[in-house]
Amino acid sequence: MEDRIGMIELPETEPGAEVKPFKLWKPRRVVFNAETLQLPYGKELLQRIDDLHLKVDISKNNRVTGLKGKTERETYQIAKSTMAVVVAPPSAFRLRPIPPSADWQFHLAEGCPAHCQYCYLAGSLSGPPAIRVFANLPDILENLRNYIDPEKLTTFEASCYTDPLSLEHLTGGLARTINFFGGISNVQLRFVTKFDAVDPLLSLSHNGNTRARISLNATSVARKLESGTPNIAARINALRKLALPKIDGGGGYPVGVVLAPIMPIPNWKEEYTSLLDHLQASIDFACDLTFELITHRFTPGSKDILLKWYPNTTLEMDEGLRIVKKNKFGGTKYVYPKEMMKELKEFFYNEIPSRFPQSNILYWT
Ligand code: SF4
Repeated sequence: MEDRIGMIELPETEPGAEVKPFKLWKPRRVVFNAETLQLPYGKELLQRIDDLHLKVDISKNNRVTGLKGKTERETYQIAKSTMAVVVAPPSAFRLRPIPPSADWQFHLAEGCPAHCQYCYLAGSLSGPPAIRVFANLPDILENLRNYIDPEKLTTFEASCYTDPLSLEHLTGGLARTINFFGGISNVQLRFVTKFDAVDPLLSLSHNGNTRARISLNATSVARKLESGTPNIAARINALRKLALPKIDGGGGYPVGVVLAPIMPIPNWKEEYTSLLDHLQASIDFACDLTFELITHRFTPGSKDILLKWYPNTTLEMDEGLRIVKKNKFGGTKYVYPKEMMKELKEFFYNEIPSRFPQSNILYWT
C-alpha cells in the first residue's frame, strides 16, 4: 500500500507553507466534579489525565471556582489554563437548531484552549472561559437518537461551543462521538477544528457519517489573530490526511473547509489566492469536499468581551466601517457593507469552483 500522506511538496516561496510542529495543550489545573467519578466516562477521563501525569483536584459541586484574577486579563489567563470535568446540565438534552451549519447542535465540551482574538465563544458562553468537559457524554450521544428524522438525513454540529479536536488527546470524546455516528444511519456529524492532531481519527469506523472540517484563513490573519493554534500549512496537511482514502493511509472522511472569518485585509485577494493555491496543491485527489464561507462580524456584547480578553488587539471592530444587521430576535451584529460583501463573495464564488469543480459551497454569510 502506498502511503501518500506527507508526499505533497509545496512551493518553498509559499508564505506559511512549512508545517510547524504543534504542541498539544496541557491544562495547568484539572478539576473533577466528584459526581463525574461515578460515571464510566468520568472514570475513563480520570485515567487519561493520570496517564498524562497531570495533577487533579476534586470539587464537591458542579461549579468551577478559583478562576477569578485581579484583572479581567488575569481571569482570562487562569480560566484558559483550567480544564474542569463536569456533568452537563439537563438543558444539554434539549437540542437547539443551528442554521445554516446543521439541523441541531450538541456539545462535547465548552471552551477551547486557543486564543483567537475574534473568538466566536465571546458572547455565547458566559463567565470566565474555562474549558468544561462533559463526563455524561455517552448520555448526551444517546439522547441524539430522539432528534433523528427517519425520513431524511439529520445533521448534528459539535463545534458550536468548543473546538473538539483541541481537547481530544485529553478526552477521546471526539473519537467516541465519531464511532457513535458511524453506527447509525441517516445522520451526519459535523465538526470543525483549527487543530491538526488528526492521526487518532484516521482509523475510526466513521462509515462516511462524519464531515470533518478544517477552519482556514489567510496566513496573516492566522499569524496575527489565531494564537495557540497550528499554522495554516499544518491545518491543510491535516485536511489532506482526513480526506485521503483509507487505502492511501488517510481517514477517508467527507471533508470541508470553513473559511472564517473572511476579512478584507490589505492585499486580501493575493492572500486568499495564495491560500486557495496552497489548498489546491494539497488536495490533489478526488474527494467529497465542501466549503463554508463566513465573513467577520461582531456584536456589541462580543466586542466588549473581546476587548477585555485582548486589550491590545489589532482586530478591526469599528462600527463606523460596518453596517448593522438585525437577527430575527432583534439582536444587532456589525457586518461589512454591501459593496464589500459583494466583492468578497464574487471572488470566492469564482476562485473556488475553478480550482475545485467537484466541491460544493454550502453557504455564504
Ligand atoms: S479555535 Fe475557535 S473556539 Fe478556539 S479560540 Fe479560536 S475561535 Fe475560539
